Amino acid sequence: MSKLRFRVVETAFKKKATVVETPTQRPSEYFAKYVFNREKMFKYLPSNVYIKLTDAMDNGAPLDRSIANEVAAGMKRWATELGVTHYTHWFQPLTEGTAEKHDAFVEHDGKGGMMEEFSGKLLVQQEPDASSFPNGGIRNTFEARGYSAWDPSSPVFIVDDTLCIPTVFIAYTGESLDYKAPLLKALSAVNKAAVDVCHYFNPEVKKVMAYLGWEQEYFLVDEGLYAARPDLLLTGRTLMGHEASKNQQLEDHYFGAIPTRVAAFMKDLEIQALELGIPVKTRHNEVAPNQFELAPIFEECNLAVDHNMLIMSLMRKVARNHGFRLLLHEKPFKGVNGSGKHNNWSLGTDNGIMLMAPGKTAEDNLRFITFVVNTLMAVYHHNGLLKASIMSATNAHRLGANEAPPAIISSFLGKQLTQVLDHMEESTNDDLISLAGKQGMKLDIPQIPELLIDNTDRNRTSPFAFTGNRFEFRAVGSEANCSCAMIALNTAMAHQLAKFKKEVDALIEKGEPKISAIIKIIRQYIKECKPIRFDGNGYSDEWKKEASKRGLDCETSCPLIFDNYLKPESITMFEATGVMTRKELKARNEVKWEMYTKKIQIEARVLGDLAMNHIIPVATEYQSKLIDNVYKMKKLFPTEKSSQLSIENMKLIEEIAERTIFITEHVNAMIEARKVANKIESEREKAIAYHDNIAPMLEEIRYHIDKLELIVDNQMWTLPKYRELLFIR
Ligand code: ADP
Ligand code: MG
Repeated sequence: MSKLRFRVVETAFKKKATVVETPTQRPSEYFAKYVFNREKMFKYLPSNVYIKLTDAMDNGAPLDRSIANEVAAGMKRWATELGVTHYTHWFQPLTEGTAEKHDAFVEHDGKGGMMEEFSGKLLVQQEPDASSFPNGGIRNTFEARGYSAWDPSSPVFIVDDTLCIPTVFIAYTGESLDYKAPLLKALSAVNKAAVDVCHYFNPEVKKVMAYLGWEQEYFLVDEGLYAARPDLLLTGRTLMGHEASKNQQLEDHYFGAIPTRVAAFMKDLEIQALELGIPVKTRHNEVAPNQFELAPIFEECNLAVDHNMLIMSLMRKVARNHGFRLLLHEKPFKGVNGSGKHNNWSLGTDNGIMLMAPGKTAEDNLRFITFVVNTLMAVYHHNGLLKASIMSATNAHRLGANEAPPAIISSFLGKQLTQVLDHMEESTNDDLISLAGKQGMKLDIPQIPELLIDNTDRNRTSPFAFTGNRFEFRAVGSEANCSCAMIALNTAMAHQLAKFKKEVDALIEKGEPKISAIIKIIRQYIKECKPIRFDGNGYSDEWKKEASKRGLDCETSCPLIFDNYLKPESITMFEATGVMTRKELKARNEVKWEMYTKKIQIEARVLGDLAMNHIIPVATEYQSKLIDNVYKMKKLFPTEKSSQLSIENMKLIEEIAERTIFITEHVNAMIEARKVANKIESEREKAIAYHDNIAPMLEEIRYHIDKLELIVDNQMWTLPKYRELLFIR
């Protein structure tokens, strides 16, 4: 068995980079080649249809059913020209990833033959047999009635031979069963609330968009090595493995040269991403060995989310073509940095104002501060919810560890912005506003340089940092659907902005001038949300104490963190903004708890199997060799001499015995603990049992396995080791 591991490692290290042909066209020429974008709509649709469709896309005008047939016909013509034979409604169920069901464009022609068919009805709505998608009890399985409906704000695209139609997935009773439907509602809520607030400053604003720029981190592993690690294959992470002697201490991987095999993969991926209209821009190595990052130019939030979902599946596919497996798990390797997905978020208007960026005039800056301070208020009042929105069984390994964001949400603003807020807090209204004769009103708001924060003023430990013209929500997991975080954040912002508007209007009604009313409320907010601001080291223990004093959510248990969704203030917020009902929130939490349990359950099973089938047999075999050696020494040497010479081997024999006993006992105990937990009816209680009783055992068992890895003969060890998995050559 040992030979197998060495053969796999040798093959992996000898692999050559695939040659990726550089396209003869420039990126601008092949960008969005496989997207039914405006250019193609214009070409393939009658002009009246084009006008109606773009109106639906830009202004959310209800899509006229009468044009659906013509849109479908145009799409089909474009797609068949590119060799497409099938279509699918592409949606984002509450599991990871996307779901699709492919149907061919064919129908009976009524004359015994077949014809190509794709009607408006098929484009607009479909009933996937979706009884097996998680829904938290909203739909009874026997009913299985949910339908998918086209989201015209995200363009249709082609993957291989299939036309993919982005859709929402909804139960017949109206509840959303996916991520997209509530995201669209959250974006619409924040649009409305932000437009209202913008009107204090810019009455011409018609629409406010939320923007998202994600930074996707990932690991690559050679596919041969991956196949020899059942834990990676089945759970996405290594459940055992001793740290390599060298991992990331030297930080030499970060911004180092990208290995040739990886560079070929990236090049291929980028070409294919651009063809799908994903504006990928940056690529680099990350801190950990074999870890990389890919980031596009930011886009409107709904589209950015779709593009992230699409790129995750594209990355998986392209990686395999290059002899790699892609790891999106937040923590595939212990002792090595995990992967996140920073969500850069901001708001911008239809006439090009970036609301999170400082402007040139004092009035612009008052608007800027208004949006920043309202963001802080939203994050402050819903810090527990925001944490729940990024929490998962897999991301839990990353948060709270001494890397990336801690399991407490706080916001870093940087020196300059902090000074501005302090200034506003300390001055009176009269200090801030002076009526300077003919020039009219003057605002004493300090000038804010346009490039607000340089790199030295960046706090890498902050989970929600202001970075010049946006906030960067860094706690999002690499594997996550960004929607979850974006739904919570945009809804909280919408709710907060509506509250702000109400309070300012109330003052105005009492006769307070508009600007003065805005400043008054802002000053109040600056004081109120102070506990969320933290510029220090988020990894430190002092911060944990301090945060708890400030009343921030410091819970670390994943199943308990999910409770935040059902707190009265969360339900009020989601219902008031029309994003989700209490019933939907409850159902979603059921799904979250169930998913949590399943993940830990699978890990426990896999670890148990590996411990019993790989680790114990190998360790025992090696132990027998040692015992054999001790006996032979006895024969060769006089008793005293042989005891002396065998002393180290005797110790090893004993150590192996102790560790294997511990492992066996705990694997059995883990099985018993699972039996107990599995009987619990409530999904919440079951998840808590898995968190409290089973997850810790995984760590305990692993500890002894990793120690055995250090003792047992390298030739005999069956599983590829960290030093082999982590260094692509
Ligand atoms: P860093 O690694 O320094 O955080 P990157 O350049 O890797 O930065 O990624 C920053 C991401 O933020 C990119 O996707 C970029 O397009 C996005 N971004 C830049 N400005 C904004 C903005 N105003 N709103 C949202 N996203 C933005
Ligand atoms: Mg970043």
